[in-house]
Amino acid sequence: MKSADKQFAVIGLGRFGLSVCKELQQAGAEVLAVDLDEERVRVAASFVSQALVANCTNEETVAELRLSDYDMVMVSIGADVNASILSTLVVKEAGAKNVWVKANDKFHSKILHKIGADHVILPERDMGIRVARKMLDKRVLEFQELGSDLAMTEIVVGSQLMGKTLGDLALCKEQDVQVLGFKRGPEINKTPDYQKRLEIGDLIIIVGPRDTLAKKLSSL
Ligand code: ATP
Repeated sequence: MKSADKQFAVIGLGRFGLSVCKELQQAGAEVLAVDLDEERVRVAASFVSQALVANCTNEETVAELRLSDYDMVMVSIGADVNASILSTLVVKEAGAKNVWVKANDKFHSKILHKIGADHVILPERDMGIRVARKMLDKRVLEFQELGSDLAMTEIVVGSQLMGKTLGDLALCKEQDVQVLGFKRGPEINKTPDYQKRLEIGDLIIIVGPRDTLAKKLSSL
């Protein structure tokens, strides 16, 4: 099923909820955005399929939203923990299948799991983990300028690149970026096998025009 065929509901339109709505809608999904606050609903209405003012702690109101028809429901209410917990409970009891909830802390998260949340997000913790993984994956040493706009740098393979091949990374003459050497363990191989699967800790030494290298690295 493509994201365009999927239906999502997002309850609570703070910064987090609104950015979830935006991303889902841009991916072509159908999005229902819900909040108590008319102004926030008005903001969401400018880019989502449907936006409604509703109090999601109220069983009758939630029943009218027919959330069991949606593929996923996100409850992103942060400041008011009671409203977050109660809305999650009401949404689950209304038959929503796959309910993701944003939590403020571990204790909030524990309660959400207990009342049946299918997935709990701790944004700061999850983002910290993602950023650290990205940093590890792109543990790139400083560019060494070689003159005439050429530069050299190194990529340390982390979890995101693990299992791919040099061929997958499209580091080749045609792309203007070339592999100068490949290091696994103590040995540097100047003619690496482009089909060999990368392992965590492998070092890829690459050379190319500075801007192309920077673009290439940010796309890996
Ligand atoms: P952030 O802005 O970083 O996402 P946050 O999660 O603390 O932080 P809030 O500002 O609390 O975000 O936003 C949560 C939204 O949830 C608010 O727009 C609020 O009006 C809405 N909300 C609170 N209670 C309910 C409820 N019972 N039903 C529907 N929406 C609610």
